[in-house]
Formats: sequence, structure tokens, C-alpha cells
Amino acid sequence: MQTPLYAQVIVDIPTRALDSAFDYEVPGELRATAQAGCCVLVDFAHRPVLGYIIGLFETLKDPSTAEKIKPIKEVLSTPYFDTVSAKLAQWIAREYMAPLSETIHLFAPPGSAPKLKKDENGIWQLEHPGIGPVDDRWVTLTEEACSFEPKANAVKQRAIIEALRIGEVRVAELGLEISAITASLKALEKRGLIRIESRRRMRGERPLLPATQDIKDLTKGQRDALSVVLNSLGCEGATPIPPAPILLDGVTGSGKTEVYLQAIRAVLEQGGSAVVLVPEISLTPQTVARFRARFGEQVAVLHSRLSAGERFDQWDFVRSGVARVVVGARSALFAPLQDLRLIIIDEEHESSYKQSSSPRYVTREVATKMAQLRGATLILGSATPSVEALHAVQTGAYTTVQLPQRASGKLLPPIQIVNLSAEFQSGNKTMFSQPLQKALLETIERKEKAVLLLNKRGFASFLLCRDCGYVPTCENCATSFTYHEQPTPNLTCHHCGDSHPVLAKCPECGSPYLKQLGPGTQFAFEQLKALLPEGTPIVRMDADTTRGKNGHERCLDEFIAAPTGVLLGTQMIAKGLDFPEVTLVGVLIADTSLKFPDFRAPERTFQLLEQVAGRAGRAEKDGRVIVQTYWPEHVAIRAAATHDRELLLADEREARSELGYPPYTRLANILIWGKDLKTVTSEAMNLANQLDALSGKLTEGDGAGAQGSSSIVGAQGEPDRDVPSLSANFQILGPSPCVLAKRQGSHRWHILIKAPQGADLPGLLAPLFKGRKTTPGVNIAIDIDPADLL
Ligand code: ADP
Ligand code: ZN
Ligand code: ZN
Repeated sequence: MQTPLYAQVIVDIPTRALDSAFDYEVPGELRATAQAGCCVLVDFAHRPVLGYIIGLFETLKDPSTAEKIKPIKEVLSTPYFDTVSAKLAQWIAREYMAPLSETIHLFAPPGSAPKLKKDENGIWQLEHPGIGPVDDRWVTLTEEACSFEPKANAVKQRAIIEALRIGEVRVAELGLEISAITASLKALEKRGLIRIESRRRMRGERPLLPATQDIKDLTKGQRDALSVVLNSLGCEGATPIPPAPILLDGVTGSGKTEVYLQAIRAVLEQGGSAVVLVPEISLTPQTVARFRARFGEQVAVLHSRLSAGERFDQWDFVRSGVARVVVGARSALFAPLQDLRLIIIDEEHESSYKQSSSPRYVTREVATKMAQLRGATLILGSATPSVEALHAVQTGAYTTVQLPQRASGKLLPPIQIVNLSAEFQSGNKTMFSQPLQKALLETIERKEKAVLLLNKRGFASFLLCRDCGYVPTCENCATSFTYHEQPTPNLTCHHCGDSHPVLAKCPECGSPYLKQLGPGTQFAFEQLKALLPEGTPIVRMDADTTRGKNGHERCLDEFIAAPTGVLLGTQMIAKGLDFPEVTLVGVLIADTSLKFPDFRAPERTFQLLEQVAGRAGRAEKDGRVIVQTYWPEHVAIRAAATHDRELLLADEREARSELGYPPYTRLANILIWGKDLKTVTSEAMNLANQLDALSGKLTEGDGAGAQGSSSIVGAQGEPDRDVPSLSANFQILGPSPCVLAKRQGSHRWHILIKAPQGADLPGLLAPLFKGRKTTPGVNIAIDIDPADLL
């Protein structure tokens, strides 16, 4: 008799209640096909369910359960992932309190895994996806055809053979040239004159670019960076050092990408593979082209703008092992690369690396875990690293290499700060200060180009005194109050829920101009048009003008093609774009970012200003930057103006440890939303009470000291020693309405939890949520290590 074989199966039911895999038996006839990573059909709670095998084993932990174990009914796919990925999926589910079935889906082929659906009779039906590989049929002439002369009246056969003498061609293309060819093709094939074969087609395939070579003369910084990476990879004969993440901290234009490219080259030579993540917004054809020009056909590209078919093809191209370099957005991390040796996260500080819907993972932390599990090297690159990453460097969890100079040797452009309240007081009521007006006119006169940024995360409105720049701010949380019209005009802190009536006058200077901030791009566009000489090209780039599939490209192409002109846009223009002719960059109002109601506002403002500054003067001509603000003395503005990150960091470290923000604490944000405000608030109150009770218990006991497995800086670092006093306890803040208090007809409330750094927050919260009864009409989401608190 055969020894029995069992499989651990994650059932595809998205609920947090099912937080582990279930055991099934692998029947004899399925042994050949049932492997880890396969999609299978099983019975679960008296109905058919899809599942994913995450492991196989021979001995049951509890042999007495053998009787009850059900068999796998069908194996529905070849393996999608390996056991290491399965382990990672379980880790993500636990760390981010997400259903296992959702995290395992990260590893499945996009849009082509089988599905189960109920038909009109309530019976479950298996659906195989419509998306799969597609073939093209190709026609080629055979040897025999060379000497063959078709009969004079066989017009079609003659035309086909003529067409094929130039080279092989797709049947579909041939059909466009010569109509109704099926019968003629059959006849020719039968006589052995042509060969028809099916070949896999890659949808959305782009022409290959001429190959480019590695740059030979790396700068000293690049050489140092590359050698740290190669050491970590175990190249150059050295034994690999334990793979701590490497922070590649290099100013814009310092040649980080060239370091990535040469590191990837080394990995490919070792027979390994690599993945490069870039923020979705900077995943432009320019970016992709740099990788494809270096590694050609070995590059697969994955992002959300691909069609379902294109995405499947790229995924499959990776799984088959042909593509060994993946360039893509966040989720490309889960592409099925074999022998992964290198993970690169470019622009590490970008908030888009946090997934905003379940599973709400932090890409940097998942990549750290993945690198550990696979023994791969992780590079985090940025010109403006996150406070978290810099903290990890400080604690020794990350290694770092710096590239302080641009590869071209050019200096970073000077940044001029203009005080908007002084402008306002001197009678200039427009959005363009005197210095910016002058600079714009000069730029256009010289036939150069300018980029103007109107950073408008429009939905968050706050009040600002146009005379002195005062913004009403919550003292407990050091974030601006948000302005609300309903029920009566009020100012609310969205961190702690504190609320006040609106003031009629500025409490600082008595000015009556305490107004809501935030004119739109349309308004700026009109003012700009009036300011510049008639006919000056102005391209507006915002959510409205970039709608549609190639909206971004259309706007950018228009700007690139113009001989001179201005590109006016929201934050989408700040990143990753490379326009050699731009010599002036203007920030119309830095305060929208600075006063954004989030504790990361100063950090994000500094990053934004550094990034836009990096857009100026990329080529021979020098660039300059003008930043308009009501708050020129703010540390984030001063730090950006002098390119002095340490100035900002010193301030941030102090503020965050005092107020209890990451990286000195861990946060969890619990969102509660629904159509009915009453139900939502009462559920939020309920939950807050339960959390209070829980935190009381934790503080009394030693739960708060649960150091270790899940520190925010990754598992490598020592837990932070100088834990500030505030974080000795848990803090439950709220419930309070979210900054986005109403969205798509739902009322949104939240509760913010501050836990000691290194606390096992998911572990502590899990019992409260696992068996929790859901209240009809109310949704709850838990966001561990949130990127924002909107
Ligand atoms: P980053 O990724 O840090 O912004 P890039 O890799 O895009 O920088 O490099 C900026 C520019 O400098 C690119 O045009 C690149 O081709 C060029 N470059 C990079 N390294 C060198 C080098 N060692 N010598 C000369 N030019 C370089
Ligand atoms: Zn004032
Ligand atoms: Zn507050």
C-alpha cells in the first residue's frame, strides 16, 4: 500500500477568520500533478471551493483526524508559486492582518486563475479564465517551393508564393493582403510547398531598441556602491555578507540607475534573476527603455496599465524563465522569477509603495522579508530616503552607500524662497510673485522651458492667513486642523478628533483674510496665460487633462515638442521625468503640502521640493528653482532650500519621538465606514472601548514588551534602545472622522493606535478581530503601518 500523501491548502475565501491552511488528502491519481503552488478544487463547509496548495506532507500531526480528511477533487493548474512564496504569503497575511486567500492571490497569474461562480440555480460552477496564451500561425516557404511554378490560373497561390519569397509572414497579415486564402493555403500545404506553424505571440510587444553598453567610467561613488552590492551578491570572489538591505542614497542624477543596471548584469551572469520596482507614476516608456536597451528580450514589464492579455503574457514570460529581469510597479515584486538574487526598490520613499487596499502591505518590509527568505540582496534607492529608512541605517539594520554628486559633475540648482505674505501685503494678489513672474518671462524670452508645480491634494482644505501665513494647528498632534462646512463651519484634528468653531480673524495678526487655501490648476492656467506673451505654449497636466489611456504621454509629448513653453501641473509632474531643456522650476505654493493634515507633511514636502529641484538643469544649461510659500522659516523649506537633509532630520527625530510617531512607535489605523452615520459612529465607539480595554490589559501585563519579530525597520535591527517615554504605553486616539470624512456616499471614521516600537501589533489586535461579529452596513479595515491617515 502507498503511504498516504497530504496537502496543506489555503482555501479561497477572503475572510480573516480563516487564518491558516487546511489539510486535504492527495488521492493516488492526482499525485503526479498536485504540487505546491497549484490551484485545486476541494470541498469546504459543504460546498466546492478553490484552494492553493502551499505544501505536501506524509504524516498527520494528529493521526486520529485521518478519517475526517477529505480528498482534493481536482488539480486545476500547474504551479503558480513555490513554497518560499507560500511562506511569504502567510507572513504578509499575519503582519498586515489580511485574509490568506488575498495574500496568496498576489502570487497567482493576473486575471487567469480559475474562478468559482454560482449559476442562476445556485449551483457552483467552475470558470476557466478566458485569458491565456495566444498563438499566431506563421507561414514559410519550403525548399520545394523554390523551383515551383504555379499554374497560370492559380492566381491566389501565385500571389501567396510571391509574398512569401520575401520572408515568413503571419497568416493573419497575409489574409489582409490577399483575401480568402484559407483554401489556397491548405492546397499549398498539402503539396508540401509551405509550412504553417503556431508560435506564441506576446501581446503589446514593442520593437527592440538598439543595445546600449554599460558605462565604463563609473564615478567613485558609483564604483563604491556597485562593489557593496557585488559583495552582498557574493561576486568578486568574496563570501556574501549577510544580506542586510542596502540604502543607495544618491542625489537626483547621481547615476543610481547605472548602478542598478550593472548590478543586474552581474546577477544575470551568475544565472540569477532580478526585479526592479519603480513607482507606478514614473514607470514611463523612458524608464522601461533604459532596461530594455541594456537587457533586451530578457526584460518583462508589469504594471496596471497593461491589458489583461498583456499582463498575463508578461507574467507567463517570467514563469517560463525566458524573462529574468522584471521592471514594474509594486506588485511586480510577486512575479514568479526563478533564482531571484536581487530586488531593487527605486524611489524607496514613495508612499505608493504602501498598498492602499487589502492586503495593505508595506513593499519595503515585504521585500526585506523576501530577500531574507531567498538569500537575495535588496537595494533601496532614493534621493530623499524616508525617515524610516534613515532610521534603519542608524540602528544598523540597513547598510548605506552615498552618491552625493551628480554623475555629470553639475551642482544641484539653487533654490530661491519667496515669501507669499510679503507679496500679498505689497499688493500682489495673483498666484505669481514678482520674482517668479520675472523668471518666467526671462525663460520664455530665452526660448527655454519652465515647469510649474501646483501641489494640490485638493480634498484636504485648511485655513491660512494670507497676511501672516498662520495655519490653525492641533497642539497635541502637530498637524493642521481640517476645515469642514458641516454641520456648522468647524476645524477638526483628524488625528485625535479635537474640534473647534472657525475663527473670524487670525489670532496671530488680527487679519480678516483667514481663508481656505487651494486654487486649482485651471485658475493658475488662466492667470499664467494673461502673464506670458501671447502664443506661448502652456501645457496643463492634472487629473482632468490626463484622462484616458495615454493621457500622460500626450501631455508630455506636447510639452517636449514645443520649442519653448511652460508645463503646469499637479504633483504628477514632479517625479522621474527628465526634460533636458527645462531651466526653471517653480513651486506655486509649498504650503498645500506642508500643512497637509498628516504627521509626515514636513518629510513629504522636503522630498517633493528636492525631487522637483532635480528636474531643473539636467543638461548643459544651468537650472534654478523658485519656491513660493507663506512659511519660509519652516524647517522643511529651509532644509530643501539649502539641500540640507540633516536639518530636517534633526527636527523630525525630535518631533516624532516626542509626539509618538514612527519610527519611534508603530501605528495601526482602523477605518470604519458605511452609509449611515449613526451606525458608523456607534460601531466606532464600541470598537474604541474594546481597544481601550485591550490596551489596559496590555499595559498592565508585559504585552507591550513583545519586542522582536516585527519591528518597523525590518527584523534585522536591534530594537530601538532609546524608546521615548510616551511609547511605553499603548495609545488609542479617536474615534474621529477621517480627513476624507465622506467619500462615495460613505461616512468614514477612524481610530488611531500608537504602540511601542517593535510591538507585535498584528499579533495583539488579531484576537479582537478574528471572531468579531460584523455589524450590518458597517465596514472595518485595519491598516498596519499606514502610509497616511486620510
Ligand atoms: P539617477 O538614477 O540617480 O537619477 P541616472 O542613472 O538617471 O541617475 O543618471 C543621470 C544621468 O547621468 C544619465 O543620463 C546617465 O546616463 C548619466 N550617467 C550615469 N552615470 C554616469 C557616469 N559614470 N558617467 C557619465 N554619465 C553618467
Ligand atoms: Zn495672520
Ligand atoms: Zn490632534
